[in-house]
Amino acid sequence: NWRTYYKCGVSEKLTLKTMPVTDQAFVTLVTNDIYCQGALVLGKSLRNHSTSRKLVVMITSHVTSRMRGVLAHIFDEVVEVDALNSADSVRLALLRRPELGITFTKLQCWTLTRYTKCVYMDADTIVLCNIDELFDRDELSAAPDSGWPDCFNSGVFVFKPSVETFNRLLQFADNHGSFDGGDQGLLNSFFNNWAVSDIHKHLPFIYNLSISSVYTYRPAFKQFGSDAKVVHFIGTPKPWNLKYNPQTKSIVEDESLSGQQHLSFLVLWWEIYISDVLPFLTETAVSEGST
Ligand code: UDP
Ligand code: MN
Repeated sequence: NWRTYYKCGVSEKLTLKTMPVTDQAFVTLVTNDIYCQGALVLGKSLRNHSTSRKLVVMITSHVTSRMRGVLAHIFDEVVEVDALNSADSVRLALLRRPELGITFTKLQCWTLTRYTKCVYMDADTIVLCNIDELFDRDELSAAPDSGWPDCFNSGVFVFKPSVETFNRLLQFADNHGSFDGGDQGLLNSFFNNWAVSDIHKHLPFIYNLSISSVYTYRPAFKQFGSDAKVVHFIGTPKPWNLKYNPQTKSIVEDESLSGQQHLSFLVLWWEIYISDVLPFLTETAVSEGST
């Protein structure tokens, strides 16, 4: 059974009994309806593993009202934020750097100050287990980036919302920009002692298993892959851009894909999409059609 294919520790059963925690949240970001498909699967995967934390999705103005409605089925909060490279943003400082890209909007997560601590997750991630233990970590905790392990990957990180930190990040962006043009370069420069200062801020790689490492270090994946807790579909193609055959439960082979285990994570993504997300999407399509 695909739902139980990945074994999770006993901690999962224990967390089922814990009380909801209302001042901590998992946070993701979507700036368009396409990425919403990823956020919905991520949100469902967190729910399926009985998280005791709130689920928050930050959206920007381009997300359609229909999709906002669907997001509201799965997330506790759908929060519209300014795209940080938008002309109407009050963050005028950033206007001088239009090349910095839409992922700078991720920084808005620091403005969610009704939460005392959060875990940010990219919309192209899914959880295979309950990962609520991440809330025991402090800002800024993240896993190494597979491309340059002295940098952290900004697809999963623990942070503490704070307007002060947010403003410092914007100021830093204005002064220094981002060495990779996205949020990851900026965040690594800002939290620049991550690699050396505190090992507790190094999340194990299984909390952000980048799908590319399945190829780049196959023996390690064979040894440790079954412990994975979070899978991150970094780069391209994203799961939602692939073709899936629900009868055979297989990805219609894409020339850029190879490797059994890699494919099984994509199958898992698609099975959650079909069983837990598609019903919401078709339901709203039907009700819109009938009005
Ligand atoms: N994102 C978005 N719209 C975009 C691009 C990115 O909402 O057009 C958000 C989304 O949450 C995504 C994250 O920014 O997961 C980082 O981008 P992506 O995952 O594509 O980068 P990668 O992990 O492949 O480097
Ligand atoms: Mn990503």
